[in-house]
Amino acid sequence: MEGSPAERTRTLHLYNSLSRTVEPFAPLDPTRVTMYVCGPTVYNYVHIGNGRGPVVFDVLASALRRRFGQVIYARNITDVDDKINQAANEQQVPISAITDRFTNAYLQDMAALGVRRPDIEPTATGHISHIIAMIEQLIESGHAYAEQGHVLFSVESFAEYGRLSGRNPDELLAGARVDIAPYKRNPGDFVLWKPSDATQPGWESPWSVGRPGWHIECSAMAAAHLGETIDIHAGGIDLQFPHHENEIAQSVCAHGGKPFARWWLHNGMLNFAGAKMSKSIGNIERIRDLVERHPSEALRYALLSAHYRQPLEWSDNLIAQSVRTLDRLYGTLRDVEAIAATPAIPAAVEAALDDDLNTPAVLALIAGYAADLRKRLAEGQTDGPELAALKADLLGAGLAMGLLQQAPAEWLQRGANTDDDARIQALVDERIAAKAARDFTRADALRDQLAAEGILIEDTPQGVRWRRQ
Ligand SMILES: [Zn+2]
Repeated sequence: MEGSPAERTRTLHLYNSLSRTVEPFAPLDPTRVTMYVCGPTVYNYVHIGNGRGPVVFDVLASALRRRFGQVIYARNITDVDDKINQAANEQQVPISAITDRFTNAYLQDMAALGVRRPDIEPTATGHISHIIAMIEQLIESGHAYAEQGHVLFSVESFAEYGRLSGRNPDELLAGARVDIAPYKRNPGDFVLWKPSDATQPGWESPWSVGRPGWHIECSAMAAAHLGETIDIHAGGIDLQFPHHENEIAQSVCAHGGKPFARWWLHNGMLNFAGAKMSKSIGNIERIRDLVERHPSEALRYALLSAHYRQPLEWSDNLIAQSVRTLDRLYGTLRDVEAIAATPAIPAAVEAALDDDLNTPAVLALIAGYAADLRKRLAEGQTDGPELAALKADLLGAGLAMGLLQQAPAEWLQRGANTDDDARIQALVDERIAAKAARDFTRADALRDQLAAEGILIEDTPQGVRWRRQ
């Protein structure tokens, strides 16, 4: 890191995978940040591992907006892919039936995790002409060649190939020598365009009726919406090679050597019971299923509980802990509900985010503000500027994380349906009446019945309260 500690607190520092160091961040245009994040291939429901990047980069996008004003954030939708074709063939429907359905499902899952929509959500099929134009530029400049209806990027034509992932091109080629496709001049060359048969979606091009390879779409869409050199490109560490390496090769070579992304950010993977979460694990821990079983804000909390570059051990215990923590925080907010306070993001929170997006440190600050509030309440303080300021800090820190923005009652009752709430309230009221009438047998029976349903009853100075566990 550069600069004194005081300077560091005023400047956003981000780890750049390209330089392998934490660097002070400044956008090319001081009034506007451009950011591109690789989005989903929409052929299936996504798992919770696919939620980490969007949640983390959502926190980053809001921090950037506070700091620099304008942020143009693009996250693509890959809507042409062989996995999509396979799903469409299996179900005997056009690919758009698959991609529409799972694009909507993805957006719903992201909304459940509190992820705000990016400014631009470009689709590959909406940018075929941009993709073809970029491939033509690569052929003209000698970085790509057409062969048997395919177009391949020539890895040997780009001396910096392998820099991002720290791989030596010769090693890469050695690893790829098995089963070399006949249209490849060199085993490491990758596909920019491939021909389609009658069962596959295809577009007219100078080379064949075909479809783009996966890597070229991100290069073409980033250039179309954000310009030739962008400030931040982000995605999961599993995309660093070959996807991001190939994006760099395509963009730099198509744009006459201009740098592609100035900062490369990579989030770590989720470990699930020791196994690396990847698409191949299948449907376990789909976001869709998790939000049915758990409050979704707890999933967001859990995803932010480790530093984004570290692997995150995902477990039921982590979710349960996150639920308990939010119970405590919302319980504190409920106890100060009568105190008026406007959320204000504390300087300490901004400083923690400036430190390469240290979300665990922000969560520790949140716990500290809440503990301070509870201590003052326990000491008998019920109002006053200190309580209001602490509440403003707690809500502000939550705002920076995309947490703690529900009404406390909404969280504590888990947003359950109102019919059921009324039924439980009636049982709670009956128990209060039984106790008042000293019918302790009935009161205990009601308590046991409620406990069996997972309802926790609390006797507080403000009266009897209940919540779902
Ligand atoms: Zn990409």
